[in-house]
Amino acid sequence: MPTVTSTLDIQKIRSQFPVLDQEVNGKPLIYFDNAATSQTANQVVQSLIQFYQKDHANIHRGIHTLAERSTKAFEETRERVHEFINSGEADEIIFTKGTTESINLVAQSWGTKFLKEGDEILISQLEHHSNIVPWQLAAERSGAVIKVIPINEKGEIRMDEYRNLLSDRTRLVAVNYVSNSLGTINPVKEIIEAAQEVKAITLIDAAQAAPHIKIDVQELNCDFLALSSHKMYGPTGVGVLYGRRDLLEAMPPYQGGGEMIKDVSFSGTTYNDIPYKFEAGTPNIGEVIAFKYAMDFIDELGHEHIQTYEHELLEYANNKLRSIPGFRPIGTADEKASVISFLIDNVHQYDLGQLLDARGIAVRTGHHCTQPLMDHLGIDGTVRASFAVYNTKEEIDVFYDALVSIIKKFG
Ligand code: PMP
Repeated sequence: MPTVTSTLDIQKIRSQFPVLDQEVNGKPLIYFDNAATSQTANQVVQSLIQFYQKDHANIHRGIHTLAERSTKAFEETRERVHEFINSGEADEIIFTKGTTESINLVAQSWGTKFLKEGDEILISQLEHHSNIVPWQLAAERSGAVIKVIPINEKGEIRMDEYRNLLSDRTRLVAVNYVSNSLGTINPVKEIIEAAQEVKAITLIDAAQAAPHIKIDVQELNCDFLALSSHKMYGPTGVGVLYGRRDLLEAMPPYQGGGEMIKDVSFSGTTYNDIPYKFEAGTPNIGEVIAFKYAMDFIDELGHEHIQTYEHELLEYANNKLRSIPGFRPIGTADEKASVISFLIDNVHQYDLGQLLDARGIAVRTGHHCTQPLMDHLGIDGTVRASFAVYNTKEEIDVFYDALVSIIKKFG
């Protein structure tokens, strides 16, 4: 729960996102699809322009000035992530193209080496497909079994059921920190502690947490953590896998190619040290470099202030939307990030999404890549409005009025 009062200058923040200042379908854009992708802060865009106009070169291999400049800036972002999530060292930070790739890396590399027949993988009912399917593939390869931690009617992980599922067969617990569909903030510290009691490895999918909640991997004491830059006001195509040094060192490479090797010959290859062992090929250099400015943006505002303000938006929206006839919130956890998933009686979610778009309001509809969760809830999807730090109560007022007028038309 937030402990400070919001003191952010939202108009100043908005001025750093020129994309917000436009009309869509003849109406001022209201961007409420931040859980899918947040807009990109100006300082991030400026960094991308600077890179492509002045510094563009491949990293690590070249000795010329541009290559050195690019390499230095790229490695500075690694240091910045190390500081941002408080890893033990910068070498524990691996760049990927997103949370999905980070989880696949662990499932393939760690999973292939360490999972065996009869091992159990625990994931929750709330997971995104990217924290389900890689484990299904790993289970198929190894003969491990997936067990699903149930949730209660509010959309919260059932800790009693979780504890019952834990046993000496549990090899891995992989859960999200914040649910993208419902906004539930999961008690990950408690989940990790319980997993450690049975010596299970833990992976935290922090894709939805990183923009809102201060992450400290040493404090959490997780083994792996994944996040995506594009949900943190940064560019697309950049993700992070944090892994504990001893685990990363024990894991085989995920992909083969340039950069991940020490020596290659036709008789055999020796691999590079971490993190490079897991970074085959040319990465998204400019985007990784620009990601540093996204973390600066978040830190300049402060997670606590961001969370407080977004919580105000959430409460404000909840109070307004609750009064709409037929409004049905989906996911009412006590601890929630700024996500409202809902349905409205007699109006299909796709129709709502389209009619809102016609009024310049961007929301997400559908299953949000959580089909097993939707099946469990007995629905085929929701309308999801997800707020970022640049959103305002005035925008929520317009959203509310739009919903009321749409419902009237459906009469
Ligand atoms: N996990 C969660 C909880 C997410 O919300 C998302 C993105 N919707 C992902 C994983 C996948 O992230 P990406 O598409 O950036 O790989």
